Amino acid sequence: MLTDVPPKRVNRESFQESDRLKLLDLPGGDELTGIATRIASAMKVGATVAVRSACAEFLAASADFYRVPPCPVRVLAARPLRVRENWSSEIFGDYHPETMLIRVWMRTAVRKEITAYGTFLSTLCHELCHHLDYHRFGFGDSWHTRGFYERAAVLYHHARGTPEKQLFWAPVSGGRWRIDWPRTNRTI
Ligand SMILES: [Zn+2]
Repeated sequence: MLTDVPPKRVNRESFQESDRLKLLDLPGGDELTGIATRIASAMKVGATVAVRSACAEFLAASADFYRVPPCPVRVLAARPLRVRENWSSEIFGDYHPETMLIRVWMRTAVRKEITAYGTFLSTLCHELCHHLDYHRFGFGDSWHTRGFYERAAVLYHHARGTPEKQLFWAPVSGGRWRIDWPRTNRTI
């Protein structure tokens, strides 16, 4: 995980705010964990329709809690070959700021292997955090800052029912940061 290059002028403050914000309120109870478990079982049998409806439920419950507009979701077999501009595009999913559409793919583009459940859920949480950046926090854009990755991790661990991990960062040139995995994994 690597952070984006900080903007030089426009949105500089918004970027820094996103970088600093490491906490995310979480819904009480285990509703999201319950829905995530359903995503896991649907993935196990490769039931795309069931995966999609569980993802939609996950996003609807989150939208309720965070008081943001619900975002539509599409679960695709594999990553589309052509990825349009303006999408914040990841390896396993993307989010479109204007349509608010989240797309996640169940298979990797090249080898067509089923995406691991942890990766899939983490992608869903990651894309949802892009949505929250615009509609809950009102940032000027949705960057991959240290704070962004921390918030996405908080949401992911809550949904998965696993303990949060402290993330350690190492500076890279150009004002960017990468996760120091050896250090992060050493600490429980
Ligand atoms: Zn992203």
